[in-house]
Amino acid sequence: MPITPDTKNWTWVLYRPCPECGFDAAAAAFDDVPDLLRDSADQWQGILADPAAVQRPDDATWSPLEYGAHVRDLCRVYRTRLGLMLENDGVGFADWDQDATAVAERYAEQDPAVVVAELGAEAESTAAAFAAVGPGQLARRGLRSDGSAFTVDSLARYFIHDALHHLWDVRPRS
Ligand SMILES: [Zn+2]
Repeated sequence: MPITPDTKNWTWVLYRPCPECGFDAAAAAFDDVPDLLRDSADQWQGILADPAAVQRPDDATWSPLEYGAHVRDLCRVYRTRLGLMLENDGVGFADWDQDATAVAERYAEQDPAVVVAELGAEAESTAAAFAAVGPGQLARRGLRSDGSAFTVDSLARYFIHDALHHLWDVRPRS
């Protein structure tokens, strides 16, 4: 079975704990997001150093390398969205098709050493961008192309769940 595109709307994670990874975005503090992101980037260093990271656990699931490349791009996309919201309250985001990107950018063929370096740099830039947000900017709004509305505060909590959830996705399986 090939990779199935993820078309689910995940915004419910803002209101209740994720039953899979256990992260509770509703209870997360905006100010914790930068360090949570930096910690997750550190964990990816070990995950992508494993030569087995290029292997899919089954043919319907991304390999750790593909997830790592996705998290790298996720950091960049959410940093861009944050910048747009800070510039223009109520801005609409361009659509980002994560599954089409994975195919177009050939995630599975990327070099794990390059991906982990890029992931570290993108995570740090994004952590710094969230850390630089002032208290008066948390209520600024942005709209996803599917109509889901975010504030800077909820965008940060939505994003950090997404990033941390992918560590759960690549957890060791017995
Ligand atoms: Zn989760």
